[in-house]
Amino acid sequence: MTQFRDRIPLPPPDAQRTNMTCHFCIVGCGYHVYKWPENIEGGRAPDENALKIDFRKQVPPLGIIMTPPMHNVVTDRDGSRHHIMILPDKQCVVNQGLSSTRGGQMASVMYSGEGTSRQRLSLPKLFTGDDWVETNWDHALKVYAGVTKRILDTGGPDQIAFNAFDHGGAGGGFENTWGSGKLMFSAIGTQLVRIHNRPAYNSECHATRDMGVGELNNSYEDSEVADTLFYVGANGYETQTNYFLAHALPNMTGASIKKKQEWFPGEAADKAKVIFIDPRRSLTLSVANHIAGPENVLHLAI
Ligand code: SF4
Repeated sequence: MTQFRDRIPLPPPDAQRTNMTCHFCIVGCGYHVYKWPENIEGGRAPDENALKIDFRKQVPPLGIIMTPPMHNVVTDRDGSRHHIMILPDKQCVVNQGLSSTRGGQMASVMYSGEGTSRQRLSLPKLFTGDDWVETNWDHALKVYAGVTKRILDTGGPDQIAFNAFDHGGAGGGFENTWGSGKLMFSAIGTQLVRIHNRPAYNSECHATRDMGVGELNNSYEDSEVADTLFYVGANGYETQTNYFLAHALPNMTGASIKKKQEWFPGEAADKAKVIFIDPRRSLTLSVANHIAGPENVLHLAI
């Protein structure tokens, strides 16, 4: 919870600055984290704040994205309190200074001991009787291992099914799934695993792997230079926001035509045509219609 209600405090010139990759979605946008002691605040002159921006006059539109959810006051393990401010990185080729409704709130979900982060679990919970009760790790693991062993001994591994989350941005896929993958597939040996958005641990686009087409196989720059963008059941504006805004949208407006001419000399270069196969009229479709013009957008609502 921010301690300031009337303003967003500015980081002082000597605030610690580190890089961070957004951990919400697979796009992987770059952010800068500024951290400085709670009792200090930077000034408005460019040499008085770490952003080197002159806040004594109106900052130009989109000059910087800085909102209250991008700031928080956190408590370190040693009890010291620090401001943190997490701002999108303009130099990052992925998001180019853009944030999204998810990544733009990373500071607000950092643990502060107040507000929503106070609800964070610190101990495992056990569902017993008709309620969740707090327990300790020793007891929780004994119950988990004991029940699992009994099922393995009596019914075999495929009597155990997992409903697990899979990847996540910031390289979280490998970090988060290596241990659980070992448990599910090697130690227990079940074949019944589904991940967050799918009925099985399978390709994002069903059967495409069987056809030899791996999903998520394109470079972000492909969206900038493709003649036609083809969305099948995908709502990129809402779910992969900065991939859509920084890379697909310039192709719809024609802003990437020069890049197309450089990449493919001698070929005709125009702004993208866009095809949506989707029963919904998603926000992505509305944005594409607005930006590219309906004459360049085909919606197949099958
Ligand atoms: S699009 Fe949004 S949620 Fe996804 S990585 Fe970028 S900032 Fe994070």
